[in-house]
Amino acid sequence: MSCCKVNIQEVLVGSIADELEIEEGDKLLSINGEKVMDILEYKYLISDELVILEIEKADGEIWELEIEKEYDEDLGLLFGGIIDEPKSCHNKCIFCFIDQLPKGMRKTLYFKDDDTRLSFLQGNFLSLTNIKDKDIEKIIRFRISPINISVHTTDMKLRKKMLNNKNADKLLDYIKRLKDGNIEMKAQIVLCPGINDGHQLNKAIKDLYEFYPQLSCVAIVPVGLTKYRDGLFPLGEYNEETAREVIEEVEIMQKYYLDAIGTRFVFLSDEFYIIANNETQPFENYEGFSQIENGVGMKAMFNYELQNSLDNIQKSLGGLTSGIILTGEYALPILEEACSKIKNKLPGLELNAVAIKNEFFGPLIKVSGLITGGDIISQLKGKDISKNVFIPDNMLRSGEPVFLDDITIKDVEEKLDIRIIVCKQDGSDLLDRIIKYCR
Ligand code: SF4
Repeated sequence: MSCCKVNIQEVLVGSIADELEIEEGDKLLSINGEKVMDILEYKYLISDELVILEIEKADGEIWELEIEKEYDEDLGLLFGGIIDEPKSCHNKCIFCFIDQLPKGMRKTLYFKDDDTRLSFLQGNFLSLTNIKDKDIEKIIRFRISPINISVHTTDMKLRKKMLNNKNADKLLDYIKRLKDGNIEMKAQIVLCPGINDGHQLNKAIKDLYEFYPQLSCVAIVPVGLTKYRDGLFPLGEYNEETAREVIEEVEIMQKYYLDAIGTRFVFLSDEFYIIANNETQPFENYEGFSQIENGVGMKAMFNYELQNSLDNIQKSLGGLTSGIILTGEYALPILEEACSKIKNKLPGLELNAVAIKNEFFGPLIKVSGLITGGDIISQLKGKDISKNVFIPDNMLRSGEPVFLDDITIKDVEEKLDIRIIVCKQDGSDLLDRIIKYCR
């Protein structure tokens, strides 16, 4: 595919493009006379009431289509990706998870992206270290918003050290320009014990608050450490005591911002509360759940959805059998509590939660999203378990029936003689599937 001919991968049924008989495999040559180099340019160019598309059909015929539409109406064209190649990051962060992957995994897993288009399209977080002035101008011109930014610290000497990149010190200038351009931003901090917590964290939150409301909130997640850290920067993990200290500090900040501006502004991911053995935070504390992709408020949201769905079950259900729910070590207490609630509401159902230890990445990795098919097989082999095994979809590669270690759902089903039922990470979906498959 030439960069000026963009392959159309799919045409949404009933869309404008469908009505105009644009087909999968056709090529987009230009919009309003401009070549389209990436998906953001595409989105920008179609945001108009009159759009002229130049399309090359499979037989080489060129169509010029004049389209009148609502300003923000989509055309219904889908492309393979972001049109040209995604940009990779130029950092070597001391906490980078990709650097802690074992050798021999699928090549795509080692790709370190740092691309504004992926931030906008998929919510990825950017370090803003490989960005140029013209990129900032483009973000502002094309209104690429929101932009998710990996901040980690606002002490620029420390940031250069943490990201191993001499260009890491322009962060606040870029954020300032984005704020002036009225671009919405969300920030993320990966917290490493003794490195960027304590007074460094306080400073970072204060500095970031200068960019509120365009920079709307900050999520803090603890560093994840696999067993493959030979030769990497020595990092420790959070324990009950140090996680509590972080929670206490952050609660003080939350109270301050809540009083001052009506939002907590800074949020901790659920892992901190789990490590500290703290109580579940109330649902309301997560406000709009705008950092849930960072694991901020997942437990509160899950419990809320589950309770709502349980409350909606009016009649008693007969013929219930059994099931088990697989999870990581962190979420085990949450799933155990969910099982009790479900069993109370559905008498006759046998339901248990089982945590899979992470042998693949090492004992410090306790989240469900990094559990592999191999660990499931080795830890459940020979055990007397229910045939109905529920797993969250984050255990699989996005959109594929394959675990991170390339073992497929089918492999696990055959080896353990079970049926795997994939659920969204959503209490309501889990309950629906339990009711559907355990009868
Ligand atoms: S920005 Fe840092 S953490 Fe993210 S992929 Fe690059 S090196 Fe890894």
